[in-house]
Amino acid sequence: MLIIEFEKSFDFFLSKKVSHGRALCPLDRKAGVKDIVESYGVPHTEIGSLVFNRRPVDFSFVCLTGGILSVGAVQPPFDVCSPSFLRPHPACAVRFIADVNVMRLGRLMILAGFDVCSSSSYEDAQIADIAEQESRIVLTRDTRLLMRKKITFARRIRAQEPYAQLMETLSFFGLKGALSFFTRCTRCNTLLQPVTKAAVLPLLEPKTRRYYNEFLQCLRCGQVYWPGSHRDHLLEKMRAVGLVTDKVEINGIKSDWK
Ligand SMILES: [Zn+2]
Repeated sequence: MLIIEFEKSFDFFLSKKVSHGRALCPLDRKAGVKDIVESYGVPHTEIGSLVFNRRPVDFSFVCLTGGILSVGAVQPPFDVCSPSFLRPHPACAVRFIADVNVMRLGRLMILAGFDVCSSSSYEDAQIADIAEQESRIVLTRDTRLLMRKKITFARRIRAQEPYAQLMETLSFFGLKGALSFFTRCTRCNTLLQPVTKAAVLPLLEPKTRRYYNEFLQCLRCGQVYWPGSHRDHLLEKMRAVGLVTDKVEINGIKSDWK
């Protein structure tokens, strides 16, 4: 018999068959600890440590004898670019892929300057493939998706509201110091470039032509950005949750808060 002890924070995931974070698992089949632990509802991406009879083990370990398996959670801030016992091959950069159930979070992450790919048409298998091939962190509210073996780095988003989800993600991965607002295109995730007003003049509405002189453009899809009211509104929200201070500099364009 295998006794599995889950850290308290896993209560969020644990199925009803687990009482007080402790499960009794008969060893009637030869299965790796990844599959055993996930059968109780905890995706492997949320696990930070596995200790079997006081010895650290990895996801492929097979329990052939009875004993105690202690399951610990990933501890924030989670640095995906550093190797760990369970994840010896770190990510080469902090990049994300947002599932359809957190699309607004994905957009806010792009606004905050992070590389986030997303599409409402992605199937689960596609998300897992992209996460593996491009070394991307999966953001989702779908626990089952995170049980796919190809996914190494992820966060099962708990918060409901997009700005709370943004704070959750930034805190979990320790990214509050890495914000770079309005540097990417929210349509296609490409880095924006400063352009002259003359270069984008034919694309502007009369009021925009009259009131704005500084512009950024996505050279991939052509979208033009300027410090309009929509951007101010977003910055106001970011400021309300404590993510921006009184002065924000965006690609050399200063926005003063008065
Ligand atoms: Zn674009």
